[in-house]
Amino acid sequence: MENKLQFYNTLTKKVEKFVPIEEGKVKMYTCGPTVYHYAHIGNLRTYIEEDVLEKTLRYLGYDVKRVMNITDVGHLSSDADTGEDKMLKGAQREHKTVMEIAGFYTDAFFEDCRKLNIKKPDVVEPATNCISEFIHMIETLLEKGYAYVAGGNVYFDTSKLEEYYVFRTQSKDELMVGVRDDVTEDVNKKNKNDFVLWFTKSKFEDQALKWDSPWGVGYPGWHIECSCISMKHLGTEMDIHCGGVDNIFPHHTNEIAQSEAYTGHKWCGYWFHVHHLNDKDGKMSKSKGDFLTVSLLEKKGYNPLCYRMFALSSHYRKPLEFSFDNLDNMALQYAKLRNRVSSLNEEGEIDSNVFASYRSKFEDTLCNDLNTSMALTLIYDVLKEDVNDATKKAIIKSFDEVLGLDLTVKEEKTGNVDSELESFIKQKIEERAEAKKAKDFAKADAIRDELLAKGVSIKDTREGVKWELV
Ligand code: AMP
Ligand code: ZN
Repeated sequence: MENKLQFYNTLTKKVEKFVPIEEGKVKMYTCGPTVYHYAHIGNLRTYIEEDVLEKTLRYLGYDVKRVMNITDVGHLSSDADTGEDKMLKGAQREHKTVMEIAGFYTDAFFEDCRKLNIKKPDVVEPATNCISEFIHMIETLLEKGYAYVAGGNVYFDTSKLEEYYVFRTQSKDELMVGVRDDVTEDVNKKNKNDFVLWFTKSKFEDQALKWDSPWGVGYPGWHIECSCISMKHLGTEMDIHCGGVDNIFPHHTNEIAQSEAYTGHKWCGYWFHVHHLNDKDGKMSKSKGDFLTVSLLEKKGYNPLCYRMFALSSHYRKPLEFSFDNLDNMALQYAKLRNRVSSLNEEGEIDSNVFASYRSKFEDTLCNDLNTSMALTLIYDVLKEDVNDATKKAIIKSFDEVLGLDLTVKEEKTGNVDSELESFIKQKIEERAEAKKAKDFAKADAIRDELLAKGVSIKDTREGVKWELV
């Protein structure tokens, strides 16, 4: 098959043509969530873009195997092995066990994904399932001289590598400053950038999850889990590794260091990174306290798919600024689009030439470094095209295999209308009636749009105003 997809490869710092190791097949790995709290919509931006990448590959005809880990141990609050264990912090916050927290937030994560039409990866593996694999990899790294034991912990020795700063996103000096800025400095490290493979002498006396190991009872570092879990399911070479840009250093840099030291050869050829969702105070993050979740958006009356469309309206390599004003605009656009698509008549024969030509335009758009905003524009081109409704609907349905916006799905995904939304609708309908009576048609139209933005379409009938969810 022809390889026509191009995307930005962080490894080479170029937009490159994607050529898989084995023709027609793609081995893809995604860093999964740390399940100590709900995912915020910033995390989910990354998963939406990765989902689009996976679905684009499938749309193009590749046979994709995608693996994701669940981080339920070892991720400390600073990515550089310092601070508190995030899972332990979550358990203490909620007076539950670490495993209860992990189970609850793993389920919550996949529920959010379902609402955002993010496909579940083919393999999902919690880190705590793979302790023996981690131990095996660490033993091999020790045997090969890439690791050392100090102060009870096992460290990766970055000075043993020919090249450690593979991504070259920051200079060596900048990275050093970053490390020096850390709150606690680990005196056991031989080199500033060495990282922990296995903790035995933990700062946390009450670390809940511990396992026996050749180096004493302890637990794995965060980076080792992604190397091991990917190799367990994808073998010692893979095609694409994904994550948010904050994972580039140190997480992905360390993954490459230990994986290639372990295998003795190149591990992964393409690195796909998604830029951050920011709010007015900068990068959205859980450590700042309040953060936005999918359920919060739902409580405010938004269909989660408005957020998916919001994410798709920008490019994955650009930071995206979130505000409710921006989301409101998108919600209105989304509702209007769904309304237009749902009014298309399905009857009639599909014009296969027009269908094929749009399919190929859509593929070209995505193959151009996943230009999702242009792909959205194509939907409007289809709607304007001089062709019957059935063809338009079939094309949009096909686009939606990748875009995942449920544009041709009739029923409302989020289920029943709660009483809060129902009274809001009634109140707005009354306000609109008053505005019309006062001949304030601009206000009446604004109310109609406000309702549409919440996914409620209203119609004036002889029996009065009727509403339905779109
Ligand atoms: P975590 O659960 O902290 O391990 O993060 C899960 C994923 O979300 C990782 O791929 C992060 O790089 C990504 N991520 C974290 N914060 C943001 C953000 N504000 N915007 C986009 N992606 C993010
Ligand atoms: Zn990872």
